[in-house]
Amino acid sequence: MNIHRITYNPKLNSCSLYFIGCNFHCIGCYWKKIYPRVNFKEIRFLDLREVIEILKPVSPKRVIIISGDPVENDEFAVLPKRLYDEFSCEVRLLTNGFILPSLEGLSHVSMSIKALNDDIHIRYTGRSNRQSLENFRHLHESNIGLSSSSVYIPGLIDKDEILNIARFIGGIDRDIPYRIIGYMPVNGLQYRKPSYTEVKEAAAAVNGNLRNVIFSDPTEQDYAGIIDLFTNNLKK
Ligand code: SF4
Repeated sequence: MNIHRITYNPKLNSCSLYFIGCNFHCIGCYWKKIYPRVNFKEIRFLDLREVIEILKPVSPKRVIIISGDPVENDEFAVLPKRLYDEFSCEVRLLTNGFILPSLEGLSHVSMSIKALNDDIHIRYTGRSNRQSLENFRHLHESNIGLSSSSVYIPGLIDKDEILNIARFIGGIDRDIPYRIIGYMPVNGLQYRKPSYTEVKEAAAAVNGNLRNVIFSDPTEQDYAGIIDLFTNNLKK
């Protein structure tokens, strides 16, 4: 698997598994800030057995499989089940929805929907959204815990597009929780961070379509205080 980093939050006894690289190539990907720190010459990916061994000493109550997203591989399909079997833990997946594992062992999937309009989606991610939207419907039908989110980027993923996404979700189930996240600028990109008020207004605009809408306006501080359990390739 392209997992290259594992972090641990002792307060929550929760671990996060990070993929490097992704099957999408989003213009506003936050990982573009991380990539310059990765020593690609030295990079070594963990196999499933190694992931389990690294997690064993902390025996997490919760494991979050978090962004990037996987590239094609066999081990990802059974990752949630192996984690659940080993630790009897809650396993949550945060994903763009393009490649899903077997749902066995998974408690919850949170899918980031980048855009509903496929032209915008292709321009933003390099791929059609068809597979991800189909997978979103499939997840809902499977009765697994499901939520969604989108990044609001003024001038690129605008309020109208956020509203379109909310209508799509509401057409499936108005109770699916939806989070609108204010874009955090990536170096060298022309797009700006929306103000707190703008994000709040975007959330208010979609409220009629969904019953459970929240918004967040992240800052760098939100990611402070987490311990690395494994990383062998990040330059300081
Ligand atoms: S799906 Fe997420 S991790 Fe992948 S390129 Fe887009 S923003 Fe980055």
